[in-house]
Amino acid sequence: MEPIRNILRHKKATVKYYEAEATKVDYAKKVVYINDESEIKGDVMSTEVPFDMLVVGVGAENATFGIPGVREHSCFLKEVGDAQQIRKRIMDCVETASFKGQTPDERKRLLHMVVVGGGPTGVEFAGELQDFFEQDLKKWVPEIVDSFHVTLVEALPNVLPMFSKQLIDYTEKSFKEESITIRTKTMVKNVTDKAIEAEYTKPDGTKEKEIMPYGLLVWATGNALRPVVKDLMAQIPAQKDSRRGLAVNEYLVVNGTENVWAVGDCAIANYAPTAQVASQEGAFLARLFNSLAKTETINKELAGLSEAQATAAGDKRTQIFEEIKTLQRSLKRVKQIGPFEYSHQGSLAYIGHDKAVADISWLSGNIASGGTITYWFWKSAYVNMCFSWRNRLLVCMDWVKASLFGRDVSRE
Ligand code: NAD
Repeated sequence: MEPIRNILRHKKATVKYYEAEATKVDYAKKVVYINDESEIKGDVMSTEVPFDMLVVGVGAENATFGIPGVREHSCFLKEVGDAQQIRKRIMDCVETASFKGQTPDERKRLLHMVVVGGGPTGVEFAGELQDFFEQDLKKWVPEIVDSFHVTLVEALPNVLPMFSKQLIDYTEKSFKEESITIRTKTMVKNVTDKAIEAEYTKPDGTKEKEIMPYGLLVWATGNALRPVVKDLMAQIPAQKDSRRGLAVNEYLVVNGTENVWAVGDCAIANYAPTAQVASQEGAFLARLFNSLAKTETINKELAGLSEAQATAAGDKRTQIFEEIKTLQRSLKRVKQIGPFEYSHQGSLAYIGHDKAVADISWLSGNIASGGTITYWFWKSAYVNMCFSWRNRLLVCMDWVKASLFGRDVSRE
């Protein structure tokens, strides 16, 4: 993550930043209502921010499909806080399983780590968790070696549906070698504090109910709309048929508005809800607004000069005339920004045991690769995608630290 303050201090323009939750956008009044949701509260905890132009980039929240017990009992994997909660829960499970006199069945349950959702989030997490066990936990708590187990549950017939068949097979084979169990065609229907209830579709099409006891449950079944976005959509008649997010046009303007743009996972522009799409959309809007700002500044100057020209005479008038011509030439040079076009660079995912899979777009074709070299490519791609040199260095230092001393398992 990149602290916003760190980005802003290098900007020339005045930017006001408030750490707050936008609870409602009133489109007609052109106001955003914000709340301070932090632990430390001051006298003012909620206020409003008026806008002329608004960019909505609030992402999405975790989809639970209304399955009972998911919100109460599982950990999600979206925010940094979620990752800290998972770390705490893993270590709690390990220590409780090692408690004196714990029964073998209970040990097995506590050390059963279940990940629901075989998209890239679930696959990457299952791989990382198994690595944590192989590289650190095994050494620190040898008595859990026989009971620790990772299971990935997916409702569809295979994991990573966005990757090519060859890489799906490679991932499934690698998981088998890493002793991660993949349970495909298994749809979770209910979650209790100690077990999940799932429905498995057998090859003959019949369904079988199953109970899977777990110690840690990580829920990674994709994205759902945030309430603030749902509420904004309800205020715009043109959004009434949109279900998954704010439908936008090719300039990322929210359909049915003139002054609201949407980017990232909360915007529906016919692209997958990935970081790659979001980052290109963000860069596009930055270019668009810069060009709008330049055009506006020049037009203002032109209007001023035209007025001055009307009252000026002689040399002064000629000078103003020349200045107007220069400005008109600059106006032409301001790059007209065309519609947003997404350029797909490929898909990349880490699958554990120092291996990654990649479907890379190359010229007009596609290169599918999986293995250790792809893992180094994955690492360098992610370091490269870090926003600042500060962050790149911090990430690399974390990797070195973890490889020398093991992962940090401290709990608050
Ligand atoms: P996803 O939507 O890609 O996958 C969720 C999976 O959960 C689906 O395969 C679905 O069939 C399964 N599922 C849903 N309900 C279920 C149930 N009740 N029981 C069992 N399985 C169930 O979600 P994601 O992995 O969180 O990814 C979200 C977005 O972020 C995607 O667009 C993804 O491409 C992107 N992403 C990309 C990367 C990467 O490129 N490395 C990493 C993380 C996320």
